[in-house]
Amino acid sequence: MRGEEPVVEALRMRALPEGGYDHLLEFLKLYRNAVQMVVDSIWSINEMLSKRKLHRLFYSNLVSMGFRAHHAKEIYIYAESLVESARGNGGRKPILRRLSARIDRYDYRLDLDSMTLTLKLHGDYEARLKLVSSSERVEKFRGWGNYELVVKYDGSGFWVSIYFRRAVKAVKPRTVMAIDLNFDNITIAVFSFNGRLAKLKRFKTPLRKVLTHRIWVERIQRRYPRSWRFIKGVRKAIDRHGERIKNISWDYAHRVGDLVAELASKHSSIIALEDLDKLRENNKKGKRFNKRLGLWIYRRIQFCIEYEARERGIEVVKINPRSTSSKCPRCGKKLAEYRHRILKCRKCSFVGDRDVTATINLYKKYMSKYPRCGVPGVAPNAPKPDENPSGVQGKRDDAMKNIKPHELI
Ligand SMILES: [Zn+2]
Repeated sequence: MRGEEPVVEALRMRALPEGGYDHLLEFLKLYRNAVQMVVDSIWSINEMLSKRKLHRLFYSNLVSMGFRAHHAKEIYIYAESLVESARGNGGRKPILRRLSARIDRYDYRLDLDSMTLTLKLHGDYEARLKLVSSSERVEKFRGWGNYELVVKYDGSGFWVSIYFRRAVKAVKPRTVMAIDLNFDNITIAVFSFNGRLAKLKRFKTPLRKVLTHRIWVERIQRRYPRSWRFIKGVRKAIDRHGERIKNISWDYAHRVGDLVAELASKHSSIIALEDLDKLRENNKKGKRFNKRLGLWIYRRIQFCIEYEARERGIEVVKINPRSTSSKCPRCGKKLAEYRHRILKCRKCSFVGDRDVTATINLYKKYMSKYPRCGVPGVAPNAPKPDENPSGVQGKRDDAMKNIKPHELI
């Protein structure tokens, strides 16, 4: 079982130097050159270097340049990670242009009450910065630990990103929440480890609305195929639709993320989501997701679910969605369309709502991938008819209308 899981979040703010900033700028240049120097030598060595070896190779040299102990460590570790990722994707040797430095918590003092930050620089210099941010944004991080920051100079001023960390007690899962996303609906089903359905909820998605805006954009772009970028009015109209798409989708994703995580908290669930990366592999048709919109919106919803879940110590797993919406959860044969959104198995005569069937299959896949001690997979005894899921939303939810609970598993 897991214990404490850290949640990490960055707070990015403008930082105004108090007094001169010559030393800070000098430090950033020195830092960049030092990282480049280390990158150059690691690149020529052409082998993976352990931390100990990096230390032996570069530490004393960096310290003699005026860096503090932890600066030196940050520099060689950062340089090594740059080289590794460049090699990993077959790129060229990294050349650093931007002025930015990663600073360890031993080399700064942060005071959120007075919103001041003191950085310890090379050669025992210090820089004091006034941080600019709304008190609401900062308030959230009271009581969190901070362990590292990045300071940047972009030509016009300084920016600071402070990394905060908070330990969240991991929730011990007692149920599995399977979530099926598709164009019209999100279906959420909570199952106990022995296969009982504890809760079923369904929400409409606003994706038809999003699609309408998308179609408008395409229409305008078709009418002005070459010029839409350059005509102010046309560009404005496109931007307006784009803005609506962005707002609708983020609002929705946040709302669903919050709601799902709350529900998962209440049921101590582990959340099983479909692995959207596996979708392309499976060569799914756009039927369920609508090709015109793409997958980004589902990714956004999943992102918010994961984010909110992590904040509450709830684990999220991704399950390959292959054939979850086409296979009979009882006997494994292919399901056929029976009525609108209802599928039927020709072999065992299972009948089920398409989305609910997908959640059952997701749940079963989860159980076979992560078997529980003492739980014999999915219990053969189906839930009794009077074990109707509570909280099914009246008009907004018709998931249960078309399926009797005893037919679920
Ligand atoms: Zn069947």
